[in-house]
Amino acid sequence: MPAAWCGRFGREVKDAFPRFIPMTALASARRFQDLLAPDVAPSPYDFQTLFAGEGWLARRRSKRRFQLLKKLDPRIRPILRPEERVFFVTAGTTVSLAEHFFVGWAAYYLNRRALVFTTQRILLVQIDSRKRPRHLVSQLRYEQIASVSSTWNGICQVKLHRGLKLKFQGVARAERKFLHQFLADIVQPRTGAETSETNHLEHLCPKCFAVVPGHPPSCSACGAPFKSAGRAALLSAIFPGLGDLYLGHRGFALLELFGSAFLWFVLVIAPLVAGGVIDEQTGELLPIDSSYWITVGIVVALAHTIDATMTHHFARKGHHPA
Ligand SMILES: [Zn+2]
Repeated sequence: MPAAWCGRFGREVKDAFPRFIPMTALASARRFQDLLAPDVAPSPYDFQTLFAGEGWLARRRSKRRFQLLKKLDPRIRPILRPEERVFFVTAGTTVSLAEHFFVGWAAYYLNRRALVFTTQRILLVQIDSRKRPRHLVSQLRYEQIASVSSTWNGICQVKLHRGLKLKFQGVARAERKFLHQFLADIVQPRTGAETSETNHLEHLCPKCFAVVPGHPPSCSACGAPFKSAGRAALLSAIFPGLGDLYLGHRGFALLELFGSAFLWFVLVIAPLVAGGVIDEQTGELLPIDSSYWITVGIVVALAHTIDATMTHHFARKGHHPA
């Protein structure tokens, strides 16, 4: 018997019209309003809170949240524990200053997360540019959070006990306001005696969704193998882009491979084939001296090192299934 038939109201409907009127579920709903009706199938989602708000703007936000939740549903349902309920979802991205400096826009692409607020924790599910869920899943427990605030420049800032700050960009203003109010009741100020817990995101196994601390080669709960950050970094050191290809960041990897191939062609291959470098002022072909190769060596080594470091950094943002 489908789960859609469960629930008190459902049972009454079923008694009256056996097997003809299935209840509305997230997967079958066409509009978010369908899920606010009384005959909704039981689910881990609190639709009344998810789609709360009056007026045109609130409806537009609810519509967007509905579309996001529909895409996330198959991914987050197995992650949720039996009694856990989802109150809110939104999408945002965290970009640190260093990430912005070294990889620019790519950091926005690689760090995009759906934030799923449940009764127990905030789940961070990696999403792509079309908001489809990807592999990485992390969590923040509410007891780790010291405060949630909205800054003047449009950032939703989650401050953890022991000082770590997570800054989410691209969260709409009304959503930040809602989250601030919603979390005010959950997030409690703490005393110094209770600060021995982790002050960072906890990464979940992408297969069994157990919390797996550190960066082991496989899941301690189900044994599923993870990709190695060291191998990703080594591949990027050999040729920038290879490490990202290994991690599955295909679009970004192709751009990097193209960029590095261009760098190698202009600085190394073309001068070797031509037997010299063209002087910018006179247009003459000058013979290559050792200082040229030293400069090129430094530039190429720097590009490869930066890429290897960034690949390693992004590889450790969660457990990538091997
Ligand atoms: Zn596992």
